[in-house]
Amino acid sequence: MSTPPVSTLCIIGVGLIGSSIARAALKYEAAESVTLFDASADVRKRAAALDIGTVCDDIAAAVKDADLVLLCVPVGAMEAVMKAAAAHLKSGAILSDVGSVKTSVFETVSHHVPEHVHFIPGHPIAGTEKSGPEAGFASLFRDRWCILTPPEGADEAALATLSDFWTVIGSTVEVMTPERHDRVLAITSHLPHLIAFNIVGTAADLESVTEGEVVKFSAGGFRDFTRIAASDPVMWRDVFLNNKTAVLEMLGRFNEDLAALQRAIRWGEGDQLHAFFERTRGIRQSIIDAGQDTDKTNFGRD
Ligand code: NAP
Repeated sequence: MSTPPVSTLCIIGVGLIGSSIARAALKYEAAESVTLFDASADVRKRAAALDIGTVCDDIAAAVKDADLVLLCVPVGAMEAVMKAAAAHLKSGAILSDVGSVKTSVFETVSHHVPEHVHFIPGHPIAGTEKSGPEAGFASLFRDRWCILTPPEGADEAALATLSDFWTVIGSTVEVMTPERHDRVLAITSHLPHLIAFNIVGTAADLESVTEGEVVKFSAGGFRDFTRIAASDPVMWRDVFLNNKTAVLEMLGRFNEDLAALQRAIRWGEGDQLHAFFERTRGIRQSIIDAGQDTDKTNFGRD
């Protein structure tokens, strides 16, 4: 059996992502031991009942012996967590995070990172609409991507260890710049969430359609948006506040394309609508071919 890439892993923020990483690290032997800390006493109590590592009551105790510290808190809380942890990190430790935005995390966190610590931000492209420690599961990262955004001159051994860690828990690692990450995720994740939040909000507000009807006839497509729109409000508030430039750029493109569809409908341009929908159907097929979703009808629902 091969040695785990990490001896002691520390997770700060024991929600969906943090608790899933703890479970995966123990199950797939990516770390020998796990320590956990969360700001919420209630979350710490619930995490302790899950048997996913040693839950500590203060951040210093959680990070002090860790070889890899992963910040798994909302993007807007990263800097405060880093300030509290900085003085207690051990020499040579690797510090990373799972935040859905990378440029702002690097800007706010990096100047608190001590010189003797290797900071390599990251983002697993895996998740669900659920939150909290009970929502996590060990297989969340299997056959998913994990993007790492090492700063220029990052320590190669630290990058290799962090890549190994994600590989052992099932992900394929891709390295890119934080700016590129933020533009790609703006269109593949952030904008789709914004559209889902908006369409669900609009439907709920429509005066001519009662909420009862919205719920009753939701299988017409609406309910697939409601899954995304049920995602954690704190997490998503922080994503939009911290990836403002890229999201606004993609939203501009989106609005232009939507206006073109609106015009095609107004002028009865059926060929144009048909050609557009043919192209989008093809994209769905390429996502299935890439193993990023099931090809079962209606996502495999009974
Ligand atoms: P979550 O389930 O809400 O967990 C976040 C945890 O962090 C909560 O237990 C929260 O406690 C705790 N926390 C908040 N502020 C803290 C602080 N200052 N110190 C210590 N703990 C603190 O959220 P999540 O979905 O796991 O998301 C965590 C991170 O992963 C975010 O940065 C998000 O962008 C990223 N991410 C999420 C997904 C996804 O699909 N959900 C996917 C990839 C990456 P309270 O509940 O008491 O506030």
